[in-house]
Amino acid sequence: MPELPEVETTARGLIPILRGQKITTVQVRVKKLRWDLPKNLGRDLTDATVTAITRRAKYMVLRLDTGQNWIVHLGMSGRMHRINADQWQTPLKHDHLLLRLANDICVAFNDPRKFGMMDIVAADKIDIYRHFAHLGAEPLVRGFDGEYLFEQLQRRKIAVKLAIMDQKLVVGVGNIYASEALYRARISPKRPAHKISRAECDKLAQAIKDVLRLAIKAGGSSLRDYVQSDGKIGHFQDDFAVYGRTGQPCPACHKAKKPCKIEKFTQGGRSTFWCNNTQS
Ligand SMILES: [Zn+2]
Repeated sequence: MPELPEVETTARGLIPILRGQKITTVQVRVKKLRWDLPKNLGRDLTDATVTAITRRAKYMVLRLDTGQNWIVHLGMSGRMHRINADQWQTPLKHDHLLLRLANDICVAFNDPRKFGMMDIVAADKIDIYRHFAHLGAEPLVRGFDGEYLFEQLQRRKIAVKLAIMDQKLVVGVGNIYASEALYRARISPKRPAHKISRAECDKLAQAIKDVLRLAIKAGGSSLRDYVQSDGKIGHFQDDFAVYGRTGQPCPACHKAKKPCKIEKFTQGGRSTFWCNNTQS
């Protein structure tokens, strides 16, 4: 499933294609993805110019010159990318929405599993939008730091890994990045959140930023069928220290006499990968 770095990568990939461009024609080929599409989606997008593309949590926010925002969530398997004119004429099976721009460039939203979502929200209502109103901090902004993390973790008795995956605390730290960040910060994923010290929170906040930034730089992680908006695959999965590496030597102590091995266990129904030796 695309996580924050993949959504950020997709959004950044769409900027040179869509920003400043007027949408001239829209093909809406389904009535619903995860939920019903807005009834007037095609009409709202037609003749609108995309003025900015940003991200909130795992939602892409495409600002339109009409005073509306087009919200796009990639769901489990969604992709949004440039296509050629032939594909506009003969869309692929899972191309659910296609755009043609004033410069004749075409873009498709393709989503085999149909878990994506789209919405239209007035620009002045974005902060109270139902999917945004309860979201926690963005991890890559300055306000997300050790002080904020400490204050939040103090209130929670659940395991720290589950706490940092709670979207009400911080958005976009999915299962992969939670394991990787805890490993970098040398903190056991099993520790109760309120027992993490202030100094450890500094390390953990930094580790979350680092791991997300590295993943964005690498173009995301290509697990299952995620690819970037230009069709290239991301390669951050090559840099995982612990995720999916059960039984392999831990990168931190692989030179030790008895290098420890990455272990896996289940937390909140999801796999956690860690090094029992270096994380405490
Ligand atoms: Zn180790």
